[in-house]
Amino acid sequence: MRFFPPSSSVHQKPVILSGVRRSGRRRRICGCFSVETHKKERSGARSLTRVPQVSLLRPGLTGIFAAFAFGLLVPHHAFAQHFDGAKAYEYAREFAAIGPRWPTGPGHVKAEDFLRSHFQRAHDQLEEDTFTADTPIGPVPMCNFIVRFPGTKPGVIVLGTHYETNYPLRNINFVGANDGASTTGLLMAIADSLRAQSAQAPGKKLAGYSVWLVFFDGEEAIEHWSASDSTYGSRHLAAKWGRDGALNQIKAFLLADMIGDKDLDIQRETHSTAWLVDLVAQAAKKFGYQHYFFQQEMEVEDDHLPFVERGVPSIDIIDLDYGPNNSYHHTAQDTMDKISAHSLMIDGDVFLESIRLIDQR
Ligand SMILES: [Zn+2]
Repeated sequence: MRFFPPSSSVHQKPVILSGVRRSGRRRRICGCFSVETHKKERSGARSLTRVPQVSLLRPGLTGIFAAFAFGLLVPHHAFAQHFDGAKAYEYAREFAAIGPRWPTGPGHVKAEDFLRSHFQRAHDQLEEDTFTADTPIGPVPMCNFIVRFPGTKPGVIVLGTHYETNYPLRNINFVGANDGASTTGLLMAIADSLRAQSAQAPGKKLAGYSVWLVFFDGEEAIEHWSASDSTYGSRHLAAKWGRDGALNQIKAFLLADMIGDKDLDIQRETHSTAWLVDLVAQAAKKFGYQHYFFQQEMEVEDDHLPFVERGVPSIDIIDLDYGPNNSYHHTAQDTMDKISAHSLMIDGDVFLESIRLIDQR
C-alpha cells in the first residue's frame, strides 16, 4: 500500500507521518498519554482478562469475597470470550515460514498451496479466482482465494487481506510477517470461528449476513506504486463482482493490513466509509480497546480503494507505524518477533464484533 502524511499532495514520496515518532518517543495527536502509560494500560488489560479464571478456581470465603470485589472492579468486557489470537499467530508463523512470496517466485506457489490445502481440509467453500495481471514485467499469473460462509440474511460482509510479498524485495529475504502473513493468519483464525458458529447453527448457516473472506494477490507494486501498478487482485475482483452483480450484495468490506504489530496503533484511514469507521470504533470500545484505534488520521491507498470507488462501504484497518521511524516496514526486519498474539486477539475480537454490529444494522 502507499500512504501520505496529512495535507500532502497524493504525488508526494511516501514518508512516515511526522509526529508519529520523534527521537524514539511516541507522540499522539491527542497528546493525552505517553508510550509508558500506553504499555501499562495494555499489560493491565491482559491481567484483567485472567482475573475471573483465577478467582473461580478458589471457591472458599476469601475466593468468593475476591470474586465479588473483582466483580465490582473489573469492567464487564474483561469477562468476554476472546478471539484466539494465539491460533492466528500460529497460522501467521507457519505462513511466514514459507519465506518470500513474491509473484512468479517459488514461495508464491507454496503460499497458494498452503491456503488451498488448508481450506480444502476444512471442507470450506473455496473459490480460486485466477487471472493474468498486466504488469511492468509482463503478464503475471495471480490468484485471489475466496472462502464463503453462507448466512441466513440476504447480503454479504467481506473481510480481506493480501497474502503475497513485494516483487522488488525478492532478494532481501522479506517474509512480510506483519505485511501479509499476520492478517492471513488472522483471517484463517476468523474462518475457524465462523466455521464453528456455522456448525452449531440451524441449517449450518451463520445467523446474519454471509461472510466472505478474501486473500488478495498482487497488492504490492511490481515496480513503482501507481494506479496501474498496485492492487492487482482487488482491482480484478471488484471489477468482476461489478460485472456479475455480487458487488450489489456487499453490505461492508473490511480490509486488514499490517495489524499484527506488537505495538498496535491503528490509524483512521481517510478514504474509509465514515459509518463503518464509527462502527469499528464502537466494536473496539466494547472490549476497552479504544486506545489502539483511530488516534491518528492517515490517507492510505490499499485494496479497499477499488471497492470504495464502486460505492461499497469499506474500511482499511491498518497500522502504518511499524518499528522505530517505521523501519520494519518493507524491510527484512518484518519478522515474527515483531508481531504478537495479543494484537491479533484485539483484531479478531473487533472484526467479529463488527460483523455482529453490521448484522444488527
Ligand atoms: Zn506492504
